[in-house]
Amino acid sequence: MTAETFQSSEISQKDQQFVWHPYSSLTHPIPAYEVVSAKGVYLQLADGTQLIDGMSSWWCAIHGYNHPELNAAAKDQIDRMSHVMFGGITHEPAVTLCETLVDITPTGLNKVFLSDSGSVSVEVAIKMAFQYWISQGHSNKNKLLSLKGGYHGDTFAAMSVCDPTNGMHHIFDQVLPQHYFAPKPKVGFDQDCNDSDIAEFRAILQTNHQQIAAVILEPIVQGTGGMNFYSPDYLKQVRALCTQHNVLLIADEIATGFGRTGKLFACEWANISPDIMCLGKSLTGGYMTLAATLCTDEVSNGICDGEAGCFMHGPTFMGNPLACSVANASIDQLLGDNWQANIDRIASTLKTQIKPFTHLDNVADTRVLGAIGVIEMKEPVNLAEIQRKFVEQGIWVRPFGKLVYVMPPFIISDEQLEALMRGIYSVLSTENTVI
Ligand SMILES: *Cc1c(COP(=O)(O)O)cnc(C)c1O
Repeated sequence: MTAETFQSSEISQKDQQFVWHPYSSLTHPIPAYEVVSAKGVYLQLADGTQLIDGMSSWWCAIHGYNHPELNAAAKDQIDRMSHVMFGGITHEPAVTLCETLVDITPTGLNKVFLSDSGSVSVEVAIKMAFQYWISQGHSNKNKLLSLKGGYHGDTFAAMSVCDPTNGMHHIFDQVLPQHYFAPKPKVGFDQDCNDSDIAEFRAILQTNHQQIAAVILEPIVQGTGGMNFYSPDYLKQVRALCTQHNVLLIADEIATGFGRTGKLFACEWANISPDIMCLGKSLTGGYMTLAATLCTDEVSNGICDGEAGCFMHGPTFMGNPLACSVANASIDQLLGDNWQANIDRIASTLKTQIKPFTHLDNVADTRVLGAIGVIEMKEPVNLAEIQRKFVEQGIWVRPFGKLVYVMPPFIISDEQLEALMRGIYSVLSTENTVI
């Protein structure tokens, strides 16, 4: 036994003894793979195995790992200061980031609130919407309207607007606030939104708009709730209905932001501006946790002119300089890189590579949008087993339920992407994978 494998098994054992993983059991743990380093699109396991990463570490690492420019930004900043409080103090990295975000997001989003993680940015967005209406003397506007099939995070307000069936509602039913849900948008990305596609959404808004503070949705791509792509025309009509009924629109672009869908922000597909927007995940290129909630002047003025006189929120690590510096480097890298042509290249390779999957008996559907490729199986996959098989193929892909999908780093080459898809194909085309 080499020193490395010994260390790996010891780490692995202690991991199971002490460590929670996302959505994991400690009484029936599934062993986790030990990663010792990562570079470009590759994850390096403790036993020497190299894996092509198809997940961008949950959709964050858009420039791949160990990127020279992002490394330099972090090192440079750490020698100045890692963190200072944001109450009464400001610094260049945060100011530059907020100015850039205002500049590149849809028009009208002029104010930025920084926070620690995607879920917190959703909490902030929801609080903004409620506080805005309270300030306007409309404290009866205390409900939200969300879409089935959505996902907005794991904290309580975020949980309460996740899909009511595949989310956590049934477990936390007694402690979650109750909100309204419209059907999951079924109208495909390439289709026009007919009256029947939006009728139920409109009816809920028409009947209940006096209680509804905001509509919250993921524009164009519903991610963790089921990898559903829907029509920009639907989103356009949602925007119009919100305006008509005096309801704010919150766009959760935590997964879709920064180019993933083929536009810099998915709202651009519908040419709309929300009143509030959440950003996270790839904001720092996957280097560290940071999120942002943007809003219009109308929302920020409405809140600050109200009784409280300020927005009632302020996380300890707000505006962390290290995270802001890396975010600035990540956005520079993205915008300087002809990102749109690059995403088009990934989309076109994915479309070619995904075709053979349509002929497999166990596959129900395949779809591609931007740098997102989805293979929907007929039955849920056995995660532990399929994970092992993917690792044997030298690829890192982590499905959920029936969904085997890739969201690779944008730096992935066509050859690496082909190898990734070939690896998935050899696993899914082997019998008995699906249980
Ligand atoms: C991941 C995600 C979140 C939650 O972000 P965290 O950083 O995990 O808290 C919220 N909304 C969407 C759309 C996401 O994809």
